[in-house]
Amino acid sequence: MGQGIFSEKNPGDLSALSQVEATSKDEVARIVAAARAAQKQWGDKSVDARAELILAVARRMMEQRAEALPIIASETGRSETECLMSELASALEFFKQAIRAGKKALMPERIKISALDYPGKKAVVEVLPRGVVGIIAPWNYPLGNFMKSLVPALLSGNAVVLKPSEQTPRTGAWLAKIAGEVLPRNLVGLVQGGGEVGEALIGAGVDAIVFTGSVKTGKRVAVSAAERLIPYSVELGGKDAAIVLADCDLERTVAGIAQWGLHNAGQNCAAVERVYVEELIADTFVERLGRFVSELRVAPEDGLTDLGPLQNEPQLRIVERHVDEAKDKGAKVVCGGAPTQRGYGYRPTVLDRCTHEMAVMREETFGPVIGVMRVKSAEEAVRLANDSSYGLNGSVWTRDIERGIVLAKQLEVGVALVNNHAITGILPETPWTGVKDTGPGVASSRHAYSTFTRPRTVFVDRSSKPDPWWMPADDNLRALGEALVERQLHGGLGVLLRLGALVGKRVKAIQAAVTAPPRKALPPAKESAKSAEA
Ligand code: NAD
Repeated sequence: MGQGIFSEKNPGDLSALSQVEATSKDEVARIVAAARAAQKQWGDKSVDARAELILAVARRMMEQRAEALPIIASETGRSETECLMSELASALEFFKQAIRAGKKALMPERIKISALDYPGKKAVVEVLPRGVVGIIAPWNYPLGNFMKSLVPALLSGNAVVLKPSEQTPRTGAWLAKIAGEVLPRNLVGLVQGGGEVGEALIGAGVDAIVFTGSVKTGKRVAVSAAERLIPYSVELGGKDAAIVLADCDLERTVAGIAQWGLHNAGQNCAAVERVYVEELIADTFVERLGRFVSELRVAPEDGLTDLGPLQNEPQLRIVERHVDEAKDKGAKVVCGGAPTQRGYGYRPTVLDRCTHEMAVMREETFGPVIGVMRVKSAEEAVRLANDSSYGLNGSVWTRDIERGIVLAKQLEVGVALVNNHAITGILPETPWTGVKDTGPGVASSRHAYSTFTRPRTVFVDRSSKPDPWWMPADDNLRALGEALVERQLHGGLGVLLRLGALVGKRVKAIQAAVTAPPRKALPPAKESAKSAEA
């Protein structure tokens, strides 16, 4: 590892991209150490001061979009318009909302302590940064995947070290450059390379790790983090289901399913990959979805495009395998079903009459393919939707909102929606999370902060008396215990008065014990030193 140079192709036209050098193991350690040094002053700043500078990063990203868009487009094969819409157009608003959520999470908490039971005592729980947070990202949204963790990590007072995917290193480098122009030197570090550099980052002493990527790698990252006893967040794959009920608004549902099934060529962890549609409307739904999808344009077909190619060749091969296998097992290709023959492009595809015997309904496809299965009832749809090893988003499409909510809540997912899908990824006050193999990680919202922060309890006792349960024990200690139990179970004035008297007696006894002469004469100092040696 380390001295190698890696280069990739533009997935749209397969033209060569500039080479990027991988970071050596020693250099990874040096970058983490530099970030740690920069964190000291950053952690001392107020949350408001940090927030101001973080917002300045978002502003700079947006101002410099003309520089970023060709880089993102060249690494993803998407049109610049698509890159703008999905990676940059909402950046400032996203940062503002993320900061709003973060400020609540970072507020110190004054703990209520009963003055009766614990006189003179106060406790505050502070929220402190972990130190240096490593952020390892995949290639599907080369900016967006960083943004969701960058804001809470920095707002908490951490330094961060970014590790972009080896498939999209230039976009990651651009983000680190922009952050470096606005934030203190070395506060945002950058390492480049594949899995071995990711492992080196975890091994280089980061204090927390945020990982977004595949299930296989996520499990390895979790093990590495556990070995170092550092907190981690892993957000992994998905196989999202949408349930289309007979009473849905058909036009909107067709457009919504196409949007969230095919956006970013389906390379979205929360893409709608499976649709369960009620038989009553299945023919009409499939026909309209097929018609709508077959009109979509794949970059770089012409100036205006709806979706780009797959980002890399192995991903294209997975998509081909899933579609071909589904066809062999009886699925009907409504539209698409073949590569575009330009770069890694694949035609947006709708498959009808899918079953759970097909990989396209069980494994993550991560491509522009929507598998449709016809169901007799909503209950059957819920059962099939939950028959998955993943659980990120799940949606129900219906005009009956109340019923939609009831059904959506039956889905085994982290984000349950009615009449939309995946949209909360751009609402950072809502937790982005999943169940099962999607992993326990939480991105966004106050719930994400346990990875980025550690609580510290500060306890102060202003009581001038010893606490009545302190040593030494005497007969009143048992009576005190019995009275405490009685007060909690039954209450009443009688027990309160008895408790007051017992507390008084115990306090006096403890105070007396401190000043009383010893019951047994202490051995002379010299003797005791000798016995200690023995
Ligand atoms: P991947 O697991 O192959 O790689 C992700 C990152 O991990 C890359 O930066 C890679 O270099 C690094 N890595 C590889 N091996 C490592 C190791 N041993 N230790 C540390 N880091 C290592 O995933 P990918 O193919 O880049 O991304 C696609 C996957 O990401 C899909 O499964 C998709 O569903 C998932 N994803 C999930 C979410 C979410 O929020 N749940 C969001 C986006 C993508």
